Amino acid sequence: MSKPTYEIVGHIERFDERDTVFSREALVPGSAEETLYHEKNPHLKQVDDALSRFIDEKLDRSGPTWGRTYYRTVFDSMAHLGLPDCVDGVPARGEMDLTEAEATRLLKSVALYLGADVVGIGPLRQEWVYSHKGARPFFDSQAPNPPLFEGMPEGYSGRCWGDAIEIDHPRAVALGFSQDLGILRTGPGEASDLEVGKIYARSALVACQLSSFIRSLGWSARAHHVRNYGVLAVPVAVDAGLGELARSGHLLHKIYGLNLRLSIVTTDMPLLLDEPVEIGVQEFCERCLKCARCCPVGAIPQGPKTEANGVMKWKMDAEKCLQYWSKTGAACVICQVVCPWSKALSWYHKAIAHLASRYPGLTPALLLGDDLFYGKKYRARAKPEWMV
Ligand code: SF4
Ligand code: SF4
Repeated sequence: MSKPTYEIVGHIERFDERDTVFSREALVPGSAEETLYHEKNPHLKQVDDALSRFIDEKLDRSGPTWGRTYYRTVFDSMAHLGLPDCVDGVPARGEMDLTEAEATRLLKSVALYLGADVVGIGPLRQEWVYSHKGARPFFDSQAPNPPLFEGMPEGYSGRCWGDAIEIDHPRAVALGFSQDLGILRTGPGEASDLEVGKIYARSALVACQLSSFIRSLGWSARAHHVRNYGVLAVPVAVDAGLGELARSGHLLHKIYGLNLRLSIVTTDMPLLLDEPVEIGVQEFCERCLKCARCCPVGAIPQGPKTEANGVMKWKMDAEKCLQYWSKTGAACVICQVVCPWSKALSWYHKAIAHLASRYPGLTPALLLGDDLFYGKKYRARAKPEWMV
């Protein structure tokens, strides 16, 4: 079995979701969670208040703006897919009679049919399971959520802020969903927000549907998506053979580049595992730096990898990144768009990706070609005509 290309150099502490920038930006000022978190982390109070302006502005109901309208169009209803009985549930009694190979083929086919662009299966390492729940929505009781919410599935953990998360599934199905690069190139703005949310919603729905499919076959399964993660999606997807960890902190897929949103289904269903892949990303990112050069706030490092929680990697500055989102009022996607691997699907892009992956000596020429053809700097395009 080949190994993933990230390098483990020390002990990996399970990550607390409360410490992610997305959890911190969502802390409601004055709430019990916010008070407790900033009593323990007073040095983060100022930056978190700045981060929370992004989400406060999106959820502000004082009057319509185009930014709020398009954001809420795609993100509001997605929250329901985070309900515990959407991501999890009770498996059917008894198990369908399937060999591992039959189950694997069927599961991958169903995932692609439902809307995933790529799918891989890997082991679930406990290091990639969040230690505690940190991101909204939280579920204090069943009452606020009728009629959708049928109740807390047995054994479901990580219900409210600060709850411990336990996921003992041995396998994880990683799902990747590509975005419309033309619309992303208009960002950061309303159009790119709309596209990002549209694809996040699709990734959440398919993960819930696939986990339901597995439970109907008789095995346990839990979906993990943007409105209810229990695991770190990027390293899980790397272990499942979808791609490598790139300088920007994203998963880099050989054909889609950084242009994938991820969701995960963890399960105890017996399945054949995919091998992690080595497509030359580590060497390519050493020389490339395009995402780092184009990042408007320097959130992506231009230097070498450093150790972060036991793993050697380029550690992006998530606080700087999200502060930029707060400033622009929209999710930034510049790094994803400028990456030379993130291109519209075509035979020549596939051929170039193949060359880049097989022949590292070609990297300087390929980078020069990318700059000449697509531009050295990022320039946003006009949003679609139909968008007011
Ligand atoms: S999303 Fe934008 S601000 Fe954040 S790291 Fe990428 S380019 Fe930089
Ligand atoms: S833009 Fe270049 S450095 Fe950044 S992730 Fe893509 S290949 Fe790596």
